[in-house]
Amino acid sequence: MGGKYGSLVPKNPDWTTEELILTLELYYSHFPQTQPQTTDALVIELSTILRTLGKLTHGTLSNFKENYRSPDSVRLRCANFAELDPERSSGMSGSTGQKVRTVFEKYTSKKHLLKKEATKIRETIESAGSLNFHLDDEFEELVPEGGVRMKVHRAYERKESNRKKVLKSFKKRNGGSLFCQVCRVNPNKAFGLDTDLPIFDVHHLKPLSEIGQVNTPSVRDYAVLCPTCHRAIHKLEDCSDIDGLITRLNSNRPHGGPLCSR
Ligand SMILES: [Zn+2]
Ligand SMILES: [Zn+2]
Repeated sequence: MGGKYGSLVPKNPDWTTEELILTLELYYSHFPQTQPQTTDALVIELSTILRTLGKLTHGTLSNFKENYRSPDSVRLRCANFAELDPERSSGMSGSTGQKVRTVFEKYTSKKHLLKKEATKIRETIESAGSLNFHLDDEFEELVPEGGVRMKVHRAYERKESNRKKVLKSFKKRNGGSLFCQVCRVNPNKAFGLDTDLPIFDVHHLKPLSEIGQVNTPSVRDYAVLCPTCHRAIHKLEDCSDIDGLITRLNSNRPHGGPLCSR
């Protein structure tokens, strides 16, 4: 862990939109009159949450400066929001970054939406905290969605115990055989490779919007896919749409024909 990212991750990664949403929510709901201080319990709590999120996202915090998402950095972000807030100041700030400004402008008149989004992010981090993350997987870079919900989705899929259970249950329901639910191929058979190491992915089917509300996925929440179909389904808008992917595949190859024709 860490090695792969070692030279790539900057010392102070930019604040993500998700982090800024949590901070803005803190700013509005708990400190409408005053500036939060480094010693405020809620500031310390948010700092802890952001550091947890950092660990989930980057695998480790050891590449970052010690003050990564410290209570003081949370306080500073709140000060940035205060500079933009017309109720606090002129609403002008030259020093505030574009992303801070964008988040402020999007949510300042939509406090309900802000609360909703922040709650969703918090729940997702909570449920993710109990999972084992292996984020230095090359697949991660190919999934454009990013974001913490996507990471929970991938964590469910990567958890070895989940994978084993899903494959076992699938085999049982299908007379002892394994195959991709989309293209019907069994890569192990196709390549004549050891079946003790099945070349299958399990794909978590819950829509991303629902992840974070359910703690323990069941085997029914998964599809068994070959690695190719798994990558393909993540390119669809709705990554739970198995039938949609089957339809696409069938309409692009002659019946029973090869997967890809030249
Ligand atoms: Zn497949
Ligand atoms: Zn997936």
